[in-house]
Amino acid sequence: MQVYKVGGAVRDRLLGLPVTDVDRVVVGASTEEMLAKGFRPVGADFPVFLDPKTGEEYALARTERKSGRGYGGFTFYASPEVTLEEDLIRRDLTINAMAEDDQLNLTDPYHGQRDLEARILRHVSPAFAEDPLRVLRVARFAARYAGLGFTVADETMDLMRQLSESGELQALTAERSWKEISRALMEDRPQVFIQVLRDCGALKELMPEVDALFGVPQPETHHPEIDTGLHTLSVLEQSSLHKQPLTVRWACLLHDLGKGLTPEEEWPRHIAHEHTGLKLIKAVNERFKAPKDCQELALLVGQYHTHGHRALELKASTLLELLQSFDVYRRPQRFEEFIAACEMDARGRKGLEQRSYPQADYLRGAAKAAREVAVQPLLEQGLKGPELGEALKRERLKALKAYKEAATA
Ligand code: ATP
Ligand code: MG
Repeated sequence: MQVYKVGGAVRDRLLGLPVTDVDRVVVGASTEEMLAKGFRPVGADFPVFLDPKTGEEYALARTERKSGRGYGGFTFYASPEVTLEEDLIRRDLTINAMAEDDQLNLTDPYHGQRDLEARILRHVSPAFAEDPLRVLRVARFAARYAGLGFTVADETMDLMRQLSESGELQALTAERSWKEISRALMEDRPQVFIQVLRDCGALKELMPEVDALFGVPQPETHHPEIDTGLHTLSVLEQSSLHKQPLTVRWACLLHDLGKGLTPEEEWPRHIAHEHTGLKLIKAVNERFKAPKDCQELALLVGQYHTHGHRALELKASTLLELLQSFDVYRRPQRFEEFIAACEMDARGRKGLEQRSYPQADYLRGAAKAAREVAVQPLLEQGLKGPELGEALKRERLKALKAYKEAATA
């Protein structure tokens, strides 16, 4: 039997990038031989094994055939007769379909190296269309390698467009989609992921709520970029430039969904978009079964981002309500993430990327002032239950009034 490194490990080594996760393929071996050599089987569907000594993963060379809708509709065929070339042809992109042996001899039947040099993301074969997840994968690789100058080949875009139009993307499970979406959002250029999905018509299928933002105008005085879709891409870009966590990036993507619902007669204004957007944010959250912290932050940022921008003008009582809504006393980190998302929103505007955002420190100061109100003296007064809650609220309001006066004096 022969063992080859495949996929990302080969690609990234040739690009001169660090290699973290190594995929290996075994040619000329059967499941029985692998077991006899002491490999442990993992995964029920795939002929994949672990080396018990190193923990490294080895997959038997296999072919795939589509036998129905969705990902469940795949049959695999692994046997010692399956060649390396046959295994490589089922892979998504030519740059992912190269193999190397331990002497670094390259097997590259689909010209991955040529595409690597030309900076092109190109599908390996028409079988690409058999798994709609590949549309998301290509968009994710586009986001990851855009900085190196990679773009998607026209003919691959055509296939992605056909796949999107076929409705097949609807067959993807939430889990598979979320895995790609969350990884793509954490890439250096998450905005490229959304842009590529939009260009091939997949965004309309996956997140019509985000797609609907393109072509919707905003007032030029606040938003020199005007278009709400372009604004959303810029906010996402800022969230990556500022190394924000996934929660913040997800909230950035969804914060303005309400603007897609504004009747045209009201354009370019979007009164109450913070409120109207909530049901859309909820729908997208649930569609992809986003983790709880992502869901929560997206809803809170959707509802309160305008409050964030207007922080210095808010009455002390409104500030208090804002802090209470975030349960800032028990969840200080979540409020920090809200502040970050607001700042990314403000910076995601054409020509205003470098403008300072004093609201951030002001909100931090307000949270600190409210959190510093001590409970002990109130307990010592014998207060408890709802009375204690009311008294605490009064004290916090007092503290916020003093804070506001001092900060804006
Ligand atoms: P990463 O650096 O993100 O790990 P990778 O290319 O190694 O990139 P993996 O998801 O680890 O990506 O997959 C390993 C290889 O398996 C890919 O390079 C590709 O050849 C193949 N592959 C994975 N998923 C698919 C898919 N859905 N369709 C076709 N080929 C796939
Ligand atoms: Mg990998």
